[in-house]
Amino acid sequence: MKLIKKNSPNHYNGRAEWKADMICFHQTGGTLVTPALNWYMNKAAQCSPNYVIDTNGDVYQLVDPDHAAWANGTATKANEKTFYGCSLSKIVRDRATNANYYTYSIEFVHCQWGNINEAQIAAAVELIKTVIVPHMRKNGVTPKIDREHLVGHSDITPKTRDPEKFNCPGKSFPYDEIISRVLGKTPVKTAESAVALAVGDKVTIKDSATTYAGVSAKIPAGFKDCSKIYTVSKVMSDRVLLKELYSWVWIKDLEKR
Ligand SMILES: [Zn+2]
Repeated sequence: MKLIKKNSPNHYNGRAEWKADMICFHQTGGTLVTPALNWYMNKAAQCSPNYVIDTNGDVYQLVDPDHAAWANGTATKANEKTFYGCSLSKIVRDRATNANYYTYSIEFVHCQWGNINEAQIAAAVELIKTVIVPHMRKNGVTPKIDREHLVGHSDITPKTRDPEKFNCPGKSFPYDEIISRVLGKTPVKTAESAVALAVGDKVTIKDSATTYAGVSAKIPAGFKDCSKIYTVSKVMSDRVLLKELYSWVWIKDLEKR
């Protein structure tokens, strides 16, 4: 792995009182590394990740991991689209602060739908194993290499980064592959499955939901607000009954809280 160090001005000094223990993956949007680097090095951009991984596997460090990069911030006001309370990550919701403070951010160049190439996967695994994990340990953090701590931008701010679309990092992003390789295990492909729900679970309805299960009646937009939390009262294979609405909703349309 080639690590090229640059120093973007787009970061906080330090990480407030936080120690980073999560990794957030992104895609740059463009197909070339140079315009991306120029943008992140430009003060006017007001954004930069800690790392950018080019299509050939070269790694650029733009913000030292001691500092919080400006890549996946969350807002503290409920009316903002990046409000932490809307995050799909329970950790982000519970921490109730700017997610930049406790995340290492990694951008991948030309990563349509999250399909990064082998050179990029190998570089990411090496970066995590040889730089990020030692940095966590240096800070007294016990690294947790799992899907709760290795997340996508769209997990953190789903209202601005739709997980179903190609943006940030995209629905094909190989989280499980990276996690397995960092842990030194054989990659396990997990089947794309709906969340397992049980009676009593708390859920919210995704923005992408359209109708109630099995009927043409539309779910009102107000019911899909991330502050509206419902209780599962009955479970079938593909749908659940929500106690507060007394309606059946497809499991695929729900987010477990
Ligand atoms: Zn992003």
